Amino acid sequence: MVFHAPPVSKGVAIGRAFVFIPFTPRITVSYIEPDAVVSGADRYLAVAARADEELTQLVQYLTGQGEPEKAAIFEAHIEILHDTELADEILGLIKAEYYAPEYAVETVYEKFIGILSDADDEVLHERGMDFKDIKNRILRILMGVEHKTLSEINGPAVVFAHDLLPSNTAVMDREKVLAIVTEIGGPTCHSAIIARSYGIPALLGIANVMEAVNDNDMVIVDAVDGELIIGPSEKELEQFGIKQKAYRDRLAEIEKYRSVPPLTKDGVRIDVCLNIGSTNDDELEAAVFADGVGLFRSEFLFMTGKEQPCEERQFKAYKKAAETFGERQVILRTLDIGGDKTLNYMALPVEQNPFLGCRALRLCFKNPDLFKTQLRAILRASIYGNLAIMFPMVENFEDLRRAKAVLQECREELKVEGIPFNEAIKVGIMIEIPAVALIADLIVSEVDFASIGTNDLCQYLLAVDRQNPDLADYYQSFHPGLLRLIDYTAKSFKKAGKPLSVCGELGGDPLAALVFIGMGIRKLSMSASCIAAVKRIITNLDTAGAKEAAVKALALSTAAEVEASLKDHVRTKIRR
Ligand code: PEP
Ligand code: MG
Repeated sequence: MVFHAPPVSKGVAIGRAFVFIPFTPRITVSYIEPDAVVSGADRYLAVAARADEELTQLVQYLTGQGEPEKAAIFEAHIEILHDTELADEILGLIKAEYYAPEYAVETVYEKFIGILSDADDEVLHERGMDFKDIKNRILRILMGVEHKTLSEINGPAVVFAHDLLPSNTAVMDREKVLAIVTEIGGPTCHSAIIARSYGIPALLGIANVMEAVNDNDMVIVDAVDGELIIGPSEKELEQFGIKQKAYRDRLAEIEKYRSVPPLTKDGVRIDVCLNIGSTNDDELEAAVFADGVGLFRSEFLFMTGKEQPCEERQFKAYKKAAETFGERQVILRTLDIGGDKTLNYMALPVEQNPFLGCRALRLCFKNPDLFKTQLRAILRASIYGNLAIMFPMVENFEDLRRAKAVLQECREELKVEGIPFNEAIKVGIMIEIPAVALIADLIVSEVDFASIGTNDLCQYLLAVDRQNPDLADYYQSFHPGLLRLIDYTAKSFKKAGKPLSVCGELGGDPLAALVFIGMGIRKLSMSASCIAAVKRIITNLDTAGAKEAAVKALALSTAAEVEASLKDHVRTKIRR
C-alpha cells in the first residue's frame, strides 16, 4: 500500500510500525452478579498490582534517563494507587453494591477528581490531573488495552499517530524513533519542528493512514520523495535500502559544512544560530557549530511537566543556556502557549480559532504571575551570559509597551530584593503578525532587535492554517507577497541600524537563506539538522549575487516562479 505526502523532515527509514493511539476510556454504568463479587474484587487487586509494576518500571526508566523530576511524578502515582481510603471504597462498591470493577474505579476516582478539580488551590487542581492519569491506567489494564506512550517504545520503530501533540513528542525516546507519520499536521506544525530538530524523517498529513497500518507492519518511509509504503515487497526493501544509504552518504557529505565558519565568498559573516526548545544536553550538542541561539522556544519547558516550572527551575535552565553560549547571544522567547501548544495544568479557553486566539503574549497578559515568574527567571539568569528577551505574537505598540512595562516591574522588584541582573539586557520582538511587519519602520524604534517568525507570518499573511494538510498547496513559503513583506521589514531594520534575523523554519532552508541574505539579513536561526546545508550555501555564495537573486525573486508573480528562479540561480551562479 503506497501513500504520498510532502516530506517535512528528510530522510529514509525502514522498520516496523508503532501505532500510537492515546487511550481514552468510556465507562458506562454496569453491575456484576452477586456471586461474582469475590472475583470482581480480585480482578481489581490484580490490576492494581499490574499498574504498580508499570509505574515502577517507568520510574526506573526515567531515573536511568537522568529525568528525576519526571520520575517523581510517577512515584507520586504509585502512592495514590495504594491509598487505602481509595482502594477500600472501590472494593466496597464492588462487594456491597455489585458495581463492575470498571464502574467502581470510574465512580471513586471521578469523585476525587471532581473535588480536586473544583479546588482553587493550583496544587490540588494538579493532583486531580494525577488522579485522572492513574484512573486511565487502571481502566486501560482492566479493559485489556495495550499500553503505549512515546517514552516507552520498545525497539526502533516508525511512529504512526493521528496527530502528535507537543506533550507526546516531549517524552518521546528519540533514539528509538526511526520516523514519524501522522494523519494531520504540516511542515511548520510543532511535530515537524521537533522531527527536524532531532533529524527524524517525517511525513505528516496522510489522511486515514491509521486505518491502513497495524502494529509491527513493515514500512518504508521515504521522506525524501514523499512516499510511504506499508508492507513493502522484498524488491522494494532492497531498492529503498540502497536509497537510504545514498541519502546517508549525501548527508555525511553535507555534514562536513557543519563546522565551517559561515562566511560568504566575499567575506561577509552570516550568523548561523540554533533554535532550541530545552537545555537538555542533546539539544545543546550543536552549540559548538552555532553563533548563538536565535530562538529558545521556552514553552517546551512548560509543556513537559505536570506543573508549571517554578522560578528557580526556569532560572536554572536559562542560566545553563547562557553559560553554554557564553558571549554568544541567546534569544529567549517568552512563553508562546496557545495555538497547537497546550499545558497539562492550565485550562485554556475553548476557542473556534486557537491560532487567532488567546495565544502567547495575550495569554501571558491574562496570567500575570506566570509571565512575571518567567521574566524574573530570565533577568536573574542574564548575568551568566548574553541573554536577550524576545516577545512573541506582538500585534501592536500596545502589546510591546505592555510587555515591557511588566518587564520593568520585574526589574524593580529584583532591585528591591537586591538580586543582580543585566540592566542592559536587549529586548526584541518576533515579527510574525503581518500588521507588525507593515509597521516595522515604526516599531523598530522601540525594540533592540527583531526576528521574523516565518511559520506564523506565512500562516497569517496567506490566511492558511499551518497545520492543515489539505491546504498545503496554499501554504506557499515562497509567495511573492511574503517575500515582499519580509523585504520591507529588512529594509526598515537596516535603515534603523538594528539587527533583524529569521527564526521560522524558512531560516533553515538553503534556498530561502539565499534570498534573505540578498535582502541584507545577516542572521539566520534554525534547527540543528539544517546548519550544515545552510552553511554550505552561505560559503558558496557572494552577497552581490544573492542580492541579484533577491531582486529578481521580488519581481516575480508566483511562488513557483520564485522557487524556480532561486534554484536556477543556485545551479548556474553558485559554484559548488
Ligand atoms: C514562527 O512562527 O515562525 C516561529 C518561529 O514560532 P513558532 O513556530 O514557535 O510559532
Ligand atoms: Mg510563531
